[in-house]
Amino acid sequence: MGTTCCPECTDGQSCGKYHVYVIELSRDAAGRRGLPRVDLLHHPDRRFYYVGMTAHTPACRFRQHQLWVDEEVKDFPCTCFGQGEEVMRRFGRDGVNGTRGNRLAGDFGIELVWRLVRGRNPLPTQDEGFAEEKRLAAELRAKGHGVHQA
Ligand SMILES: [Zn+2]
Ligand SMILES: [Zn+2]
Repeated sequence: MGTTCCPECTDGQSCGKYHVYVIELSRDAAGRRGLPRVDLLHHPDRRFYYVGMTAHTPACRFRQHQLWVDEEVKDFPCTCFGQGEEVMRRFGRDGVNGTRGNRLAGDFGIELVWRLVRGRNPLPTQDEGFAEEKRLAAELRAKGHGVHQA
């Protein structure tokens, strides 16, 4: 039972609550809009991170970001809700219907960093999820990492 990001989710299915997650971004993301400058020369241990929040499993959400950057892709496969059956869900490019992805996470995302969210998930409400997302991003920024959180 449980995944690396949430003790209540299973591999394919979301527990239905909210999850904060962190995706480590490649150094190639340096200089992209939405990312602060980081002095990697003097602080080689610093990283670029994308911090987000989702009701899907973080693994599903990461895949959404990766699929989103391909303009041809209109739907993404999801097993998070219901009985674990895969359904195709529509991306909403108007931001009204369906979900969107993030270009930084999709183009430069390397992996979900589960150790940074250990003990934080799940969050019972969306408001608590947003609050935790902001808190987590602030903690990583305080350590000097380059964080995108929106
Ligand atoms: Zn969960
Ligand atoms: Zn999903």
